[in-house]
Amino acid sequence: MARPGDARALAALLRARMDIEGPGMFVPPGERAALMAQASRLGSGGSPVSAGVGPVADIGSIDSIDALRGIAETCTRCSLHESRRTVVFADGPDRARVMCVGEAPGAREDETGVPFVGRAGQLLDRLLVSVGLSREDVYIANVLKCRPPGNRNPQPDEIEQCSPFLRRQVALVGPEVVVAFGTFAAQTLLGVRESLGRLRGRVHEYEGVPLVATYHPAALLRNPQWTRPSWEDLQRVRHLLAENDRA
Ligand code: SF4
Repeated sequence: MARPGDARALAALLRARMDIEGPGMFVPPGERAALMAQASRLGSGGSPVSAGVGPVADIGSIDSIDALRGIAETCTRCSLHESRRTVVFADGPDRARVMCVGEAPGAREDETGVPFVGRAGQLLDRLLVSVGLSREDVYIANVLKCRPPGNRNPQPDEIEQCSPFLRRQVALVGPEVVVAFGTFAAQTLLGVRESLGRLRGRVHEYEGVPLVATYHPAALLRNPQWTRPSWEDLQRVRHLLAENDRA
């Protein structure tokens, strides 16, 4: 699987991780078994909004990313709209070969409206570079578009209400590979309760698109021993793209 230059790329990534690492790290979510059991509906199709939880719109029929963003930015489908500062819809081109999916906005994302900023975002950028991708190449979104207060765990009803946005993003962006970063994103997208350790290392599928699960960059900052496995996961992404190029 490795190519000439891969060792250098991995070494650069290891150095970058150490450069970025610092005190006061974000604590990644632990196991969320009860939540995942209820989140498994994420895999179903888009649905009209229920009366009383937000503007009625059939998200599954929206035909452009801009229109979808517009709906999200005024969304009141779940109670997170009451405490958010910004709707963190996505970052990246409207069409992309790779789509990265995290959990939910944190404080910095809520301030800036951009997903994966701060040290975790910097490490994500380095991870992408180590496999020949740049942040500008990929589309980045979260399962939830609004920050849960105090970075608490997303609730099942929030996932249910927000998941049509993500499904539609995948359909409109048309990625060749989805990368799920972290336990929450992987379990939610796949509708399973297996640990990330069991989910990574193989290719899954979400909405008909190959899905690779890997560690969240924030968790990676706290666990340097996961740097090589993370890089190997992204190598898997690179190989999927290369297979498509050859096809
Ligand atoms: S988290 Fe999603 S469903 Fe809830 S208000 Fe924000 S955009 Fe709407």
